[in-house]
Amino acid sequence: MSPTRVQHPLETPVTYIKRVGPRRANVFASLEIHTVRDLLHMYPRKYIDRRSIVKIRDLWQYVTTGTEVTVVATVRGKDIVRSYKKRERFILVVGDEQSFMDCIWFRRTRTMERLFRKGERLALSGQVTDFKGTLQMVHPSFDRLTPQKDDEDEHNWDEMFNTGRILPIYTETAEMKEVGLEGSILRSIVLHAIENYGSSVEEHLPDDILHQRNLMPYPEALPAIHFPRSGDDIHHSRQRLKYDELFFLQMLLGYRRRGARQVPGISFTVKSNLARKLIEQLPFALTDAQKRVIKDIASDMQSSKPMHRLLQGDVGSGKTIVSILSMLVAVENGYQAVFMAPTEILAVQHYTTMRQLFESIGIEPALLIGSQKKAERKPVEESVANGEAKVIIGTHALFQESVSFHKLGLIIIDEQHRFGVMQRLRLYEKAKTPEINGRAPDLLILTATPIPRTLSLTLYGDLDTSILDERPPGRKPVKTAVRSKNERDKVYVFARDEVKQGRQVYVVYPLIVQSEKIDLKAAKEGHEELQNGIFKNYTVALLHGKMSREENEDIMSRFRDGRIDVLVATTVIEVGVDVPNATLMIIEHAERFGLSQLHQLRGRVGRGSDQSYCILVHYLSPFNKAAAFNRGTFTERSLEKAEEKEKGMVRLETIASTEDGFKIAEVDLKLRGPGDFFGVRQSGYPELKLASLIDDKALLDAARTDAFTIVKHDPHLREPSHERLRRHFEHHMKPLLNLTRAG
Ligand code: ADP
Ligand code: MG
Repeated sequence: MSPTRVQHPLETPVTYIKRVGPRRANVFASLEIHTVRDLLHMYPRKYIDRRSIVKIRDLWQYVTTGTEVTVVATVRGKDIVRSYKKRERFILVVGDEQSFMDCIWFRRTRTMERLFRKGERLALSGQVTDFKGTLQMVHPSFDRLTPQKDDEDEHNWDEMFNTGRILPIYTETAEMKEVGLEGSILRSIVLHAIENYGSSVEEHLPDDILHQRNLMPYPEALPAIHFPRSGDDIHHSRQRLKYDELFFLQMLLGYRRRGARQVPGISFTVKSNLARKLIEQLPFALTDAQKRVIKDIASDMQSSKPMHRLLQGDVGSGKTIVSILSMLVAVENGYQAVFMAPTEILAVQHYTTMRQLFESIGIEPALLIGSQKKAERKPVEESVANGEAKVIIGTHALFQESVSFHKLGLIIIDEQHRFGVMQRLRLYEKAKTPEINGRAPDLLILTATPIPRTLSLTLYGDLDTSILDERPPGRKPVKTAVRSKNERDKVYVFARDEVKQGRQVYVVYPLIVQSEKIDLKAAKEGHEELQNGIFKNYTVALLHGKMSREENEDIMSRFRDGRIDVLVATTVIEVGVDVPNATLMIIEHAERFGLSQLHQLRGRVGRGSDQSYCILVHYLSPFNKAAAFNRGTFTERSLEKAEEKEKGMVRLETIASTEDGFKIAEVDLKLRGPGDFFGVRQSGYPELKLASLIDDKALLDAARTDAFTIVKHDPHLREPSHERLRRHFEHHMKPLLNLTRAG
């Protein structure tokens, strides 16, 4: 009985577009393209443009440069050839007016062979090589200019192209190709959508923003990004659509920030006797950076708005003590404080440290972790619920159903990057206990992962930030070296010398889920080899995630007390572990670790005043790309492998060359791309299709300023000039807003 809803023309299903039948619509649907609007947001990956086309006879000059070039050519011949090593390759001979070249495929040769027809026109892009005097492109990407016979197309792309049109090239998945959604067909479908529905595209941004930021109007930009008339058109339409992505992302962040601060918070009295006493009893003086950060936190805690602060400080900068002092403030005000760590080892370490520290001030911390038995856990949960436990340390087990807080005033999350954004929000929801009269507790988030500013604006755009940019005095830089497996013996002789002098050593093995069994075996064998070999007169222990908590704790406490000389471990010790007498970190198979992991691991040493070392042992054999090329043993797979190796080597060299976490993070971001970096994808934000958080800094800043201004001055978008923005936001952003508003 629902009333007929007048559909916006852009909501028309893609099946209404010419040449989109059920099969193609299904493939579109699997790509989340359901409506004309969705289709218009499937942006081209790149363009082919007459000006960027190179004639085959001019290709020689690109042979050595390695740049990607595009040629437009006609298929002249094709053949499948078997080399003497019996690997097949498919050769496609293409030519333009004057010259010929070969395109080579080593994989799926039979399929490739069937794809091309003599006489058809292609745009081919790739790197050119000179193979024994013949120009070649290995596995070029290609785009058909001639329509396929079975799919009549009234657009003559070849002619359009020849008269100077710039043609879009879309990303084509295997499924798309299977139903003919490729090349000229795909282009026609998009062009049809624009021709028939383009006039329904409306502007949604306020005029003053368009004006001030010099943005192309939306009704022009959306068609122009598909069929630009000039290079300028490409630039302006992309800028506009990038701005849109960033603007709405920042609007969401702005609302989230606002939502978080609208709830009343607790106004703590920040003069704390407990904190003062603790500081007096510390064996060191606080650094200036620590004092500054403590001031930031104190002023947040004093304020009646809830604190939402991110504390960034590189490994070893002394974040723990800062957070401990703020917990004492909460406790002195009659509230509970909770400290959440990402691993049990770390939670136990913090618990141990705090128990010692708090002894003289009469506070008994409580520990809550997943591996505790019911009988052990029950009394802890009770004391958390009745308020007896003032300082509670734990893992995410803290936020299970069975745990309820009495009067929670402060939440600290250590090594935040280990938790997802959603986890953070969930935990925050849970923390709003009724006993604090709907007031939101304060939140302090610690992270050692340096986040480039642009990225942190997005990931943590709703938080205030403090930075600990000073290490405690007397720390020497860690000497880092890269060694190949052939030099492994020497590395361990060096390790024994360190142990002889009373120092302790970590040996870390990689462990990933996919190869867990083999990895674990390698760590066990490494342990045996060292204990029975070079370290037979010393104590070597093994630590990994599959051991019981008792074993874990026993080993960590013996290592801390110096009763274990060498600790062979998997990555369980990656974050936070603090044993100042350990001065050598050996990382086995270092090529398999990510950059931030290596940085974190190295951060386990250099925590005392002695000189510390980090040795990265890699198992990479040299691979010579050029040589493989000339031997003709070059395949796509071997190229992938070579690239993996190169990336591995870049990672090792980066770690060896700097201890600056920000520099390391930037290289990491370049190698991995922002999508992977800290799982931005899982953060509950809309996906960025065009904009890059790294390359579009200026645009990001502009979008942030504009969005935050609007959220601040007209949060309900009631001003007439915001009318169309409100409609757009309600239609397309509301669900995301509800999701992110949880915080
Ligand atoms: P992270 O920031 O990596 O969490 P921690 O808080 O574990 O670092 O601190 C690293 C080590 O430095 C600890 O052993 C801690 O006791 C010590 N430390 C902290 N602050 C200072 C200081 N101001 N002077 C000397 N040592 C300090
Ligand atoms: Mg820490």
